[in-house]
Amino acid sequence: MPSSLIIANSLISGEIFGSVTVMVIAIIATIAAFSSLGPMMLLQIGALGRQAVLQTYLIFAVFTERTISVLFMRNKNLVQSVSTREQMLALVMVNSTDSIVNINHAGLCLWSGGASLDLLGYSNQDIVGKNLNDVLSIENKNPDFIENFFNSSTEKLETVLAKPIFDPSRALNLSFRKFITDGIVSGAIITVNDITEESEKLAVAVEKSEKDPLTRLLNRYGFNEKIKSVLETQAENICISYLDIDHFKQINDTYGHEAGDRILTELARLMQATVPPPNIISRFGGDEFVIAIIANPTDAQNSLNTLIETISTTVFSLTDTVKAHITISCGYSFYKKGKPLDILIQEADSALYNAKQSGRNRVCNFVQSNSAT
Ligand code: GH3
Ligand code: MG
Repeated sequence: MPSSLIIANSLISGEIFGSVTVMVIAIIATIAAFSSLGPMMLLQIGALGRQAVLQTYLIFAVFTERTISVLFMRNKNLVQSVSTREQMLALVMVNSTDSIVNINHAGLCLWSGGASLDLLGYSNQDIVGKNLNDVLSIENKNPDFIENFFNSSTEKLETVLAKPIFDPSRALNLSFRKFITDGIVSGAIITVNDITEESEKLAVAVEKSEKDPLTRLLNRYGFNEKIKSVLETQAENICISYLDIDHFKQINDTYGHEAGDRILTELARLMQATVPPPNIISRFGGDEFVIAIIANPTDAQNSLNTLIETISTTVFSLTDTVKAHITISCGYSFYKKGKPLDILIQEADSALYNAKQSGRNRVCNFVQSNSAT
């Protein structure tokens, strides 16, 4: 039973007991007054006088009893409302699907409520005294997040993603708010909620919007998103190349669409092995691929030449029994600061046209549009 409930009950019983006592005294006093017993005997003021004393006493008793009673009632109501709130808070904490943790400046957990056991792997009692960094890992490997949060002047809520150490497959969202007592930041209150399901759904949606379902390479949208983030950090040594399979239609027409799909899939794997990350490979559609080579001009050209040569010497499986060679043509253009991405891609496409025109199975630069492998 909560202590506040015990206090409330004792106040109620105290009040009842107090009222009963006053009534008993009043009855005894009345009997004593009329029977001239007890202290009343000492009063030499006659029956009328004794009645007057009795009336005065009763009025006094009634007023003091009410006052005491009102005081009792007020305290009782106060304690009862505190008790109700305490019970409600306990109920909310027990049924909460979130965990609420109070930490100090050093990141030590001082108090915890809610679903800490489910979300963080520690019960609300056991987590006390643990450092938050030992309980979960904050995303982007930012061990200074807590320190930075306390050092920042912001009063706003700060949110960060994290994974619990006991189950890194889960995704948690942490909302940090500074905890201020007497005008001083004494710690932080962190609300932890499980967003595993949402982040899985988001990952699937992102995958669908950014990837080509056949080859699992990035699609046009995915490529644009990826290259944008690269260009934000690196404005040099980026070569955009446009590639297109030679006479691919013939393969489809001769061996069927399925054989063509097999080639596209095998080709994607070969590209990934030959120009690995940080280079960015995408399928723009049909038999067209756009690859960003992150390297200086010489290395980029060498990589593209190697890729074209590797493709031409690889044996592809059209069916389980039929094998074939294919070739691919490539045009490329180098990124210059301020040049829009779509212009760069157009230049590479234009160089590809030259590569096709000048005999296929070759690499052409946008500027020197007649260079061959
Ligand atoms: P070129 O050397 O001039 O590029 O000749 P090409 O025959 O390859 O001509 P083009 O690139 O214009 O033709 C692309 C062909 O790719 C047309 C279409 O039949 C085929 N294609 C497009 N998308 C797919 C696909 O998803 N799967 C398969 N199997 N074929 C596709
Ligand atoms: Mg083609």
